[in-house]
Amino acid sequence: MKKEEMKRRRFLQTAAAGTAVVSLAALAVLESEKAGEDGQLALLGGKPVRNSGFPSWPMIEKNDEEAWADVLQKKGWCRLNGDYVDQFEKEYAKLTGVKECLATSNGTNALFGSMSALDIGPGDEVLVPPYTFVATVNVPFLRFALPVFVDIDPETFQMDPAKIEEKITERTRCICPVHIGGYVANLDAILEIAKKHNLYVVEDACQAHLAEWKGRKVGSWGDAGCFSFQVTKNLSSGEGGAIISNNSELIDRAYSFHSNGRERTNKYGYQYIHNGTNMRMTEFQGALLLQQMTRLEAQARIRETNAEYLTEQLQQIPGIKPAKHYEGCTRTAYHLYMLRYDASQFAGVPRAKFLQALNAEGISCGGGYTPLNKEPFVEETLRNRTFQAVYSKERIDQYLKENHCPENDKLCQEAVWFFQSMLLGTKEDMDQIAEAIRKIHKNAAALAKA
Ligand SMILES: *Cc1c(COP(=O)(O)O)cnc(C)c1O
Repeated sequence: MKKEEMKRRRFLQTAAAGTAVVSLAALAVLESEKAGEDGQLALLGGKPVRNSGFPSWPMIEKNDEEAWADVLQKKGWCRLNGDYVDQFEKEYAKLTGVKECLATSNGTNALFGSMSALDIGPGDEVLVPPYTFVATVNVPFLRFALPVFVDIDPETFQMDPAKIEEKITERTRCICPVHIGGYVANLDAILEIAKKHNLYVVEDACQAHLAEWKGRKVGSWGDAGCFSFQVTKNLSSGEGGAIISNNSELIDRAYSFHSNGRERTNKYGYQYIHNGTNMRMTEFQGALLLQQMTRLEAQARIRETNAEYLTEQLQQIPGIKPAKHYEGCTRTAYHLYMLRYDASQFAGVPRAKFLQALNAEGISCGGGYTPLNKEPFVEETLRNRTFQAVYSKERIDQYLKENHCPENDKLCQEAVWFFQSMLLGTKEDMDQIAEAIRKIHKNAAALAKA
């Protein structure tokens, strides 16, 4: 029995014998003690809502250690000498419901390998959302293509399909929707536009393991889907990535590119059919992923249950707006839990101070991305010698003139994130997140003055 519950029962027993006036007053005191919401903010010297940490990530069990040690002992550390990566590719293709999977050294290279396989290069334009990890933008640049930013849908934080067509030119080759936070982009609308304009779709599903659109896994809808297994991701091997596709020819090309231009059927020879690089996954990564995968489904279910419970509570707090899901989204991966903070409902307390107060209550949180399209490296890249060899000054000037995403600018000032491992906690952990936010809301005026 929880301490609060014991206190309440003891109280009720006592109250039964006492007078009604006393019992009501005492009950009010007990209720506020239980909620902890009327206490002083931890940032202002009060007691924090929470003292213990959230579940740590990544998680390790005996099977992980055994698999790792097995690779070590067998000495087949490279995928060309072992079969763990081969096995992982088969399992991951099965899990995502596609024909083919190619493991890569990381998610950035999964995107790079996909765009190389699709022959996206100098002069081409790739439509990307600005609300993403920088790799989505870096990869078109690495191919000497232009990442063209499409503003976000303020309700879902995903690339806004209504703003895609105005960005399409005769040089557009590919749309790269990002399932940001593990929430799902509007795939129906995006795929329809892609079909109409004859464009490739590369899904950046680096945060969206097991997420689904209309009951089918994300990453399997576009020409290719890219995943990351970097240590923070919901499935992890420290570093790692994968390309999935139903197009075997595409994966053949990606394979060749990822292993120095060798043919997929000629893994170790000195014959090369294309130009390529080395972005092979190691056997250590493959073996670890196979073991981590045994817990993926169960963990995903816990995150979903907790996130949905958290949403029920948070949407009742004025000024807190959890990100919405499109109707076609049948499963969210919740790599992040994303919401929007409205300072006007919190006595004007700026987001930075709200985050500070929430962290002080023992609830780890962050403000998330800054506007990527405004990063100085974008202009720096476009103005460098190599880009000048491909694009006219007029084209670059025009690009920079049109490079505005006002909805994203606003979101980047208002977003609040919780991280996936927090969602692996208990229902009581979720209660404490909501409790801490309610406490800040109640004490907003004091916080604003402090
Ligand atoms: C993590 C991530 C990547 C890149 O993956 P790495 O494995 O870190 O290279 C790309 N896109 C998004 C949206 C990501 O979150």
